[in-house]
Amino acid sequence: MSNAPSDSVATATNFIRNIIDADLAAGKHGARRWCGQPGPADRQLAGPPDPARIRTRFPPEPNGYLHFGHAKSICLNFGLARDYGGRCHLRFDDTNPEKEEREYVDAIVESVKWLGFSWEGDGENNLYFASNYFAWMAQCAEYLIASGHAYVDSQSAEAMRASRGTLTEAGQDSPFRSRSVEENTDLFKRMRQGEFADGAHVLRAKIDMASPNINLRDPAIYRIRHATHHNTGDTWCVYPMYTFAHPIEDALENITHSICTLEFEAQRPFYDWLLERLAEGGLLQRPLPQQIEFSRLNLTYVVLSKRKLIQLVDDKHVGGWDDPRMPTLVGARRRGYTAEGFRLFAERIGVSKSDSLIEYSLLEDAMREVLNLSAERRVAVLDPLKLIVTNYPEGQEEECLAPNHPLKPELGKRPMPFARELWIEREDFMEAPSKGYHRLFPGNMARLRYGFVIKCTGCEKDRNGHITAVLCEYLPETKSGTPGADSVKVKGNLHWVSVAHACRAEVRLYDRLFKVPAPGGGDTDFRDDLNPESMVAIHAQLEPALGDARPEDRFQFERHGYFVADRADSQPGAPVFNRTVTLKDSWGQAHK
Ligand code: ATP
Ligand code: MG
Repeated sequence: MSNAPSDSVATATNFIRNIIDADLAAGKHGARRWCGQPGPADRQLAGPPDPARIRTRFPPEPNGYLHFGHAKSICLNFGLARDYGGRCHLRFDDTNPEKEEREYVDAIVESVKWLGFSWEGDGENNLYFASNYFAWMAQCAEYLIASGHAYVDSQSAEAMRASRGTLTEAGQDSPFRSRSVEENTDLFKRMRQGEFADGAHVLRAKIDMASPNINLRDPAIYRIRHATHHNTGDTWCVYPMYTFAHPIEDALENITHSICTLEFEAQRPFYDWLLERLAEGGLLQRPLPQQIEFSRLNLTYVVLSKRKLIQLVDDKHVGGWDDPRMPTLVGARRRGYTAEGFRLFAERIGVSKSDSLIEYSLLEDAMREVLNLSAERRVAVLDPLKLIVTNYPEGQEEECLAPNHPLKPELGKRPMPFARELWIEREDFMEAPSKGYHRLFPGNMARLRYGFVIKCTGCEKDRNGHITAVLCEYLPETKSGTPGADSVKVKGNLHWVSVAHACRAEVRLYDRLFKVPAPGGGDTDFRDDLNPESMVAIHAQLEPALGDARPEDRFQFERHGYFVADRADSQPGAPVFNRTVTLKDSWGQAHK
């Protein structure tokens, strides 16, 4: 069956698709050449025509784990490449030597694959590290110096800040702005050779200190940092600034549409200025990449900033980056969220240019929808209370058959042993029923799902009046699947597992990590908004078939929700289950 929701959703058009459609119609990128790997114009122009109709990229900085916001960007970039006969590159934007780590690179690779996307295929492997372009970036800087478009500034950081001006006031030219090409060339060479301390000089683009756009007031493009880089080691002691490096990375990789979040909108003029200068100088192939901004994903009940997520991990509010409550992709995977659910969610929320806050329940709905179709049904009693079928012979047992999936009869049925002692949910019995209660109370009849109709006859209590067992009699002719099944009509329908056959296991009931829609809103500490009940571990009684669940097997526990066998702690024979999401959105009611 391939009626997965993400396949059946028609892809909605959006402003980015409109731009791509227009570019393709105009043949804008048709003449580009591609030598098979990233490189400057001379290399690319020696190659054949680029077989990719468009190129997009997902460019994470490897300084943390990917979160739900990144999933939006991944689905968008890889999705566009897939739909338009293009390619999407996975590029590590690792130009900052100080914060990046291999651990993050590996986790990011794994998460993008897990989401179902690939940067390999058709003879290409488009996995790149921006740090491999350092030599080309330095050549670009040298070209800017040689053509009079960059200079070495030797002011202090404070002086540079002070002379930058404000939104309403023009900046002041640096006293070093008029240095000669020879002097700039010499100084930049010595910066590279390690002659100067960190911060002694910076290389700046020479644009316009009076520009109304502050980003064009001679932005810094190279700085001195005597730091060891995870990829290039100690080869470099000058590193490019992000705003200089990023456009060059895009151009070297033949990216056609460089999609980023809205906060980079004001950088676009510099992006274009820089690439124009470098194309004029023959370093980069035309047409140049186009930067397109969209609004980032903001979700209620979570925080989506690496800085805050790091704090949650460091302060041990969660068990780690992959804690099932974390809005990271590794956390989501452990929680039981599916890649298909993320793709469906991304499709539904679409892309736009206006900032918005998306309801967390939309993400949960997408997960439920996917799991409803894919997850097999099982029975688990989360708050067990013993039910004794007093007219069922001791030592006897028989099979009841339960369908694995109500919408997919082809998945067959599994046997559930029925016996004299069963576990039911404590809430399925009331000694003195409230109005409208249809489950078990003395004198009432209800159905044991896939089994028999029973009549409640009473209960047993301990010395403190605490109910220890419910008593009932079964009606043998009412077994599900037999002609007498419908002979007695009842309103209540309960799930159960046989005491002698049940598998006792830990079940972790996860809930939202934060108890308010906007954690840290109004300048409060977001950590004060943590939900103290975001994880409750219980011991449940599961039907025997669940005992063999393998890590990451997903099920619907009937009447409860969707659960997954934990990736880290679950063993076949000794499963641990995580609640992924309840059957219905109960948050609103429970927290009124
Ligand atoms: P954070 O703000 O959480 O630190 P970041 O922007 O620094 O994230 P990067 O690794 O630089 O993280 O981002 C990689 C890509 O993911 C960028 O193209 C960025 O625009 C995109 N991205 C990051 N956060 C979101 C979000 N909330 N919604 C959509 N895209 C996002
Ligand atoms: Mg960033």
